Amino acid sequence: MNLVNQLADVTALRDLERLDQALVTLVMDTLRPEWAAVRMTVHDHPHVRWTVRALQRANEVGLHFDSPSLALEQLPLLDTQLEAARALAQGDPCFSIDDEAQHLACFPLFDDDGGAGVLQIASSEAMTQEQVRMVSSFLRFYGNFRELVTDNERDLLTGLLNRKTFDEAFTRAAQMTLAREQTAPTQDLDQRAASADSPAWLGMIDVDHFKRVNDTYGHLVGDEVLLLMARLMRACFRHTDRLFRFGGEEFVVLLRGAPQAGAARAFEKLRLAAEIYDFPQVGRITLSVGFTELLPDDTPHAALERADRAVYVAKQSGRNQALCHERLVEDGRLAPPVSVGSVDFF
Ligand code: GH3
Ligand code: MG
Ligand code: MG
Repeated sequence: MNLVNQLADVTALRDLERLDQALVTLVMDTLRPEWAAVRMTVHDHPHVRWTVRALQRANEVGLHFDSPSLALEQLPLLDTQLEAARALAQGDPCFSIDDEAQHLACFPLFDDDGGAGVLQIASSEAMTQEQVRMVSSFLRFYGNFRELVTDNERDLLTGLLNRKTFDEAFTRAAQMTLAREQTAPTQDLDQRAASADSPAWLGMIDVDHFKRVNDTYGHLVGDEVLLLMARLMRACFRHTDRLFRFGGEEFVVLLRGAPQAGAARAFEKLRLAAEIYDFPQVGRITLSVGFTELLPDDTPHAALERADRAVYVAKQSGRNQALCHERLVEDGRLAPPVSVGSVDFF
């Protein structure tokens, strides 16, 4: 495939995961190094770790990348990739040669709220000036494109993902549910040990009595509360979880790879974090949360409906609660959804 086609392909991409993969493929096809990779930092306070966004080796078909359900503890620490860390710190490419005479070039890609990214190219010979120039032009293109994608998929007020991107993220999470094997549940419930064997969850979060905040303190203060809520959500959930603002004072979380007790803990942690937070001017604000397990043949509509019904029960029974739809059904507090063909009736 020629370069123009490759770039045209990249511009057709709509999400960042595939943008990273496309960059690695482009580098492999044009420079033919031993391997190329995009790695990204993730924060695991107080540590910083690396996750592989895309990695391709010469003579190997296909790309590698870390499963989103990998537990943070399984990811290597920042200093395991010294050159990459140095490139990020300097904001400039770093070139080195290792004991086995392999040349490694590291190019910083981006550095924002979510983490920092680096492109690594390993080859038996040092990169030529011409190759470095070529990679630099790929990276300018990558940077511009990343900005476009990011602006397009984020909510302007909170910076969380917007409603438009939900269906695709949902499909991906549901596919992971489909792919997971029916093995024994993860033992380490307490740590919400993310695992490929664990299901994915959808949580819906609704601010309690938010209309009162707006009515009493005005929209600007209301907006600030939403912004702070988004910040609490970022702090409570993992980097592999997907956080959305669905408009208004409603948020949705897709939680990947957690057993039920782990999901319950994560949503309860957020509920508590909001409850004890001292919001400027307003003081105490609470959340009602409903969450549900994603099923192999789930649709966004059906899963949102189940979560919404759990939120409704929370609102009806005093607010400031995080309730699981399946538990509510088990306890007889909600009727189970009835499936007719592929459509659920509530
Ligand atoms: P409940 O506990 O039952 O959820 O009560 P509530 O007042 O939160 O419920 P309701 O859904 O009736 O009200 C949501 C309010 O959110 C309505 C509107 O005033 C406010 N709102 C929606 N979008 C925005 C926004 O972007 N900014 C601000 N400041 N307020 C918003
Ligand atoms: Mg609402
Ligand atoms: Mg509300």
